[in-house]
Amino acid sequence: MFNERLLMDYQKLAQLLFPDITSVPADWEAKYPLRQLPQGAKVTRIGPSPTGFVHLGNLYNALIGERLAHQSEGVFFLRIEDTDNKREVPGAVEAIIRAMDFFGVRFDEGATIDGENGDYGPYRQRQRKDIYQTMAKWLVEQGRAYPCFCSEEELSAMREQQIAQKLNFGYYGQWAACRELSYEEIEARLAKGEPFVLRFRSAGSGEHDITVFDAIRGELVMQENFQDFVLLKSDGIPTYHFAHVVDDHLMRTTHVVRGEEWLATLPMHIELFDTMGWQRPIYCHTAVLEKIDGEQRRKLSKRKDPELALAYYQAEGYLPAAIWEYLLTVLNSNYEEWRIANPGVDCRQFPFSEEKMSNSGTLFDLDKLRDISKEVIVSMPASQVYDELLAWARVYNVQFADLLERDRSYAERIIDIGRHGDRPRKDLWTWSQAVQFLSFYYDEIFQQEDDYPANIAPQLRREILSAYLKTLDFADDNSAWFAKVKEIAQAKGFALKPKDYKKNPDQYPGSIVDVSNVIRVAITGRQNSPDLWEISQAIGEKRIRARIKKEIG
Ligand code: GLU
Repeated sequence: MFNERLLMDYQKLAQLLFPDITSVPADWEAKYPLRQLPQGAKVTRIGPSPTGFVHLGNLYNALIGERLAHQSEGVFFLRIEDTDNKREVPGAVEAIIRAMDFFGVRFDEGATIDGENGDYGPYRQRQRKDIYQTMAKWLVEQGRAYPCFCSEEELSAMREQQIAQKLNFGYYGQWAACRELSYEEIEARLAKGEPFVLRFRSAGSGEHDITVFDAIRGELVMQENFQDFVLLKSDGIPTYHFAHVVDDHLMRTTHVVRGEEWLATLPMHIELFDTMGWQRPIYCHTAVLEKIDGEQRRKLSKRKDPELALAYYQAEGYLPAAIWEYLLTVLNSNYEEWRIANPGVDCRQFPFSEEKMSNSGTLFDLDKLRDISKEVIVSMPASQVYDELLAWARVYNVQFADLLERDRSYAERIIDIGRHGDRPRKDLWTWSQAVQFLSFYYDEIFQQEDDYPANIAPQLRREILSAYLKTLDFADDNSAWFAKVKEIAQAKGFALKPKDYKKNPDQYPGSIVDVSNVIRVAITGRQNSPDLWEISQAIGEKRIRARIKKEIG
């Protein structure tokens, strides 16, 4: 086989396949020189594909790349991996860029909405065709790539046979039908206009192992590649495997942060790097995102889990700061401890480390995100809560945005209720939930969400409310106000201590809690709310009286 191959003039073949390519790898090497960066600086990137679906994994990997680069005075860039025409959706690149910007991911270089920024571009793969073809031509010249004319049908027939014979799948060894085509045959088939792909000629047999260092997983021992995988598709556009190797080399990426779904094809990438004579980057394969679903722990799924889409967090109004905070707790096990020791400090000060990342599935837990979001919001001044809520509402809930803007000081006051003192209330965690939570402060969107306490008959309820209305005096302070509620409770025979009622439920119509809850439901439409006196002071006498009157009927 080697004899025959030696006879083949690879130079001539390269020229036949790529007549228009006049550049050589060294030209591109010169165009993209090694970066002048401080010792230890990391160069990282994300390479999302514009499929129209920006997912949590994109943000997850972005955050890792961003941290690694920026805390080492390195460079973080955005490369659009648009080699798959079929999957591209109009507007998808813009959606990626806007989503990353929304979540506070800042790139030093890369694709922008109307162009790009940086010296290592183009940053859209489709615009890099000449570069890939130069490298492909060079591989052909070295005898390490060849055209393959096999049709889909031939490839699936091959697969059938491999299944039947229980052999490894793929294009390799004796199965690689086009591996040894003669120059003449290739020339003749090209002349007939037969479509072809360009395949890598692997030097591996699969009999050896390779060792690859992964910054998250440590040393990986894997079977070497032996597949003659596709480098260029029939339209001359590279596959991910080829494009990523060429790009990460020429863009001088030092750390490739990507999902663990690429681990399986890592030996192909390693063989390509080695064959090109290029230094391998350090790979960082991140763990898949999982969730608890009932009894089961499973991978987040695009079909079943809306929270896999970044758009979900925007629409729900999660705070980018909370998402960062949450992702950092997931990514580095020592983050929470650091946060406790460093309250209020920018999370970017945390010494992030790729070694502390988990290499088995990462549990993505919306409950935990909710708790962190609550902490983030409660630590923000009311004016900032107002600004961010308003910015969200302008896009997602115009009616509420109008209400907020109608009276800023009212809005800030109601946002602030219950947020001070030793045990501040943590009522808000997303902006959509905040709208729902704050709705009772606005007559226009007030809704009775909870029923009155079930143990209080409607007649008694009306009596309580009438008595409340009679004694209500807006000049009362909180304790005078509560003393009156107590008086009403006593006059109507309610237990002043909930435990007395619990002990002897037959002796009372209910406890003081029921009395306050009757008033609470009339005023707020729910059985749970911040302090009623404070709420009433904010809403104002006229509207409070009107709400209670309405309930008395
Ligand atoms: N386009 C690839 C993806 O979306 C990028 C993987 C990588 O970062 O290398 O999965």
